[in-house]
Parts: sequence; C-alpha cells; structure tokens
Amino acid sequence: MRLYGVFFVSNMRASTRQSLTSPGICQYLACLLLLLPASHALASEAAVEPSDNGTDIREDSTVDTDSRSSETTAAAEQLVEPVPAHEHLVPLADAVITAEGQAEPLILLDNEILPGTAHRLSWNATELFEGVPVSTPVLVVNGTSPGPTLCLTAAVHGDELNGIEMVRRVLHEIEPQKLSGAVIGVPIVNVQGFRRGSRYLPDRRDLNRYFPGNPNGSAAARIAHALFTEVVAHCDALIDLHTGSFERANLPQIRADLRNPDVVTLTQGFGSMVVLHSKPTIGTLRHAATRAGIPAVTVEAGGPSQLELAEVKHGVKGIETLLTTLGMLRKIRFWGDPEPVYYRSSWVRADNGGILLANVSLGSTVRKGDLLGTITDPMSNARTELYSPYSGRIIGLARNQVVMPGFAAFHVGIEANDVAVQDDAVDVAQKPTPGGYVDGMSE
Ligand SMILES: [Zn+2]
Repeated sequence: MRLYGVFFVSNMRASTRQSLTSPGICQYLACLLLLLPASHALASEAAVEPSDNGTDIREDSTVDTDSRSSETTAAAEQLVEPVPAHEHLVPLADAVITAEGQAEPLILLDNEILPGTAHRLSWNATELFEGVPVSTPVLVVNGTSPGPTLCLTAAVHGDELNGIEMVRRVLHEIEPQKLSGAVIGVPIVNVQGFRRGSRYLPDRRDLNRYFPGNPNGSAAARIAHALFTEVVAHCDALIDLHTGSFERANLPQIRADLRNPDVVTLTQGFGSMVVLHSKPTIGTLRHAATRAGIPAVTVEAGGPSQLELAEVKHGVKGIETLLTTLGMLRKIRFWGDPEPVYYRSSWVRADNGGILLANVSLGSTVRKGDLLGTITDPMSNARTELYSPYSGRIIGLARNQVVMPGFAAFHVGIEANDVAVQDDAVDVAQKPTPGGYVDGMSE
C-alpha cells in the first residue's frame, strides 16, 4: 500500500477540524543541528535573511513590503485556517524505502488514478463573469510502486512561462511503471492571468499572497483555497515554479527555508542548483504548504513572458534529479556536485533614472567593487555606474531597460565569508540565535 502518502492524506482528512500544530522552531533547529553539518559546508556560518529580495523575490522578502501592504499581510494571516499538519512519521528522504506493499489508487478531483497509469484531469479554479467555469489541466502519474506524492505547480503568476514547460516535460517523461509514488503537476495555476499575459488575477491581486485561502474570501482567496484543499492537500512535498518578475531574470535557484529538515532534503535532491535560504512570506504557497506539514520550495528560473529553453532544461534536470534522489524514479539523469548555498543576498538598486545596461550576466562571479552595470541619462548623456558592494554571484538581474531610481537591478548571492566580514550590512534587527540561524525580521 501507499503507506507514506495514504497515511498523510487520510490523517489530514480525519482531522480536518483540528487546530494547526505548526512544527516547532525548536524542533527544526534541533534537527538542523544534526543535519546541516553533514550536508552543507556553510551551515556553521551565520545564516541570515535576504535583506531585500526585490521581486518574486518579494515573495521571500522581509523588508520590501511595497507590494504587499500590511493590510494584505494581515488579511493573509487571517486566512490561515486550521489545517492539520502532515504527520511526518517518516522523513521525506526515507519515504520510498519505508513504503510497503502495493501502490494504491490515488483519489484526486473526483477521479480514481490507478497505480501504473497517467491521467490528465481538470481543476475548476473559479468562474468567469458569465458563470462559465475556469478550468485548468492537472497532470497525474501514479506509479506502480508505493511512495510519496510530489507536486509541481507553475504559473501561480500568470506571466511566468518557464515553469509551465517544465511541468509538461517532467510529467510526460515519467513512465508510471518506473515510478514509486505519484507526481501531480498543475502547469497553469493562474489561468486567468496566463490568458492575459499578466502576473495578477483580473482584480490585480497577487494569488501568491492568499494561500491557503478562504472559501468565503476574495476571488484570490477562494481560488487559493480551492487549489489548496483539492490538490495541494494530497501532496507530501511541493515544488512551486516561478521566474523573476517585472523584466527581471533569475539564475535557476531554489528558495528554501533551511530550518525545516524535510525542506533541506528537497534542496539537496536537486543536485546542481543554487540554493538561497529564505523564510517564506505569509500567504505564499510555499509558506502555507510548509505550515500544513508539506515541505515546499520555490524554484526560480529565468524571467517572465518568455520561454527560455536553457532555464527550462536546467529546471527539468533538477526536478528529475530530485525524483531520482528521493528514490521515486529508478533512472533518469543524476546531477552531482551541489552548487553553493547562499544564506544571504542583496539587491543593488539604481540611484538614478535612465537606461540600464548590464556589464555582468546571470551566474557571473563578482568581487566587491566590480562594475555591475551603467545607467545613462538619455537627455544629458550623464552616466553613472553601479558597483557590487559584496563578493558573490549574480543570481538575479534586471533585463536591459529604462529604470527609475530605486529599481532593483542586480541580485547578489553573498559568499559566506563576506557575511561574516560584512556584518554591518546585516540588518540590526537580526541577531544570531543559538542554533546558528539568524532569524529575519517579522513578516
Ligand atoms: Zn512568481
């Protein structure tokens, strides 16, 4: 039987009215103390919050609140309904090994997915003004052998296309006979935004601020609630696929709260992909899922409104490596040599308006003082230069464009040594904790 998955799901159903028992921070920290020294060489360094994440980025931001007013944040907090925690009897890493017996049918969206089969289902997110249902595909592969259920979601922001293609490639390449557990993919969560080429819902709300949602709330809250209860609640782990926003592109990277051991397992499974430690913002799918006991990470790759093949392939390879690492797939590719973990990052912003041209590219290694780009006033021809305040790696940048002062232009993942040295750059609100993790400012 699907010991791992079924237990979780049935446990969730059985206790839907119980109040949320959020896994204790102390418990996480204790586990991390055991886990991290063996897993991440940088674990002993002070881990701090990204002080300013800028974009999707704001998804993880603890400072830049201009896109989410305190009202929104408070509202999102109220939407956090009592969702029972997944009872993690078995760490995610051991789920396949521990699963016993035969795989069982997966019940999803009123359909029964038999072991060894793949299906395309339809999820009704909401209705149009005229009452016509807005539906979007859900792809499911139920393996022949038992194991956990991994979920992929994409286009929660409707203009982020790379994840859509990643979900398609991953789901259509899996052979059910070779799969232990199940994989569920929702290629286009925000179908209304997708149709309009927009990040947002028709009412300009950002869907990724309303999870886990509310059946009686705003349009966004209702859509979020439907996705969360009808699909996400069936997952044992979740990968939410994103890109940069507003003409910014991200080096393929995993955003993860490394205080959670099962989240650490996920990040390690991807192989060669940069990891940025970040505590999720309330209302994001990543936050809501993890809080409900479903370890979740965000994968950022590329920028919005374009299909970028290199980024798509990078993401697909990472996800397939994860399926292999978790023991869910027997073959496919394996990608060794993990990339560094960045416990801190910083956006370099424009101080002048004008034409921004980059001198670096995604993935460039930079030293403190290196020229990152120039901003030229189109009228006066006056030119200013942007320099890197840190040594590190360019993990996100704005595409060449016209900018205003304050525009976040270059996202630098900061090397651990620099974090230790440049303590002055760390927000004063952040104080080291005994567990080695430096908690960010409250969100
Ligand atoms: Zn996004």
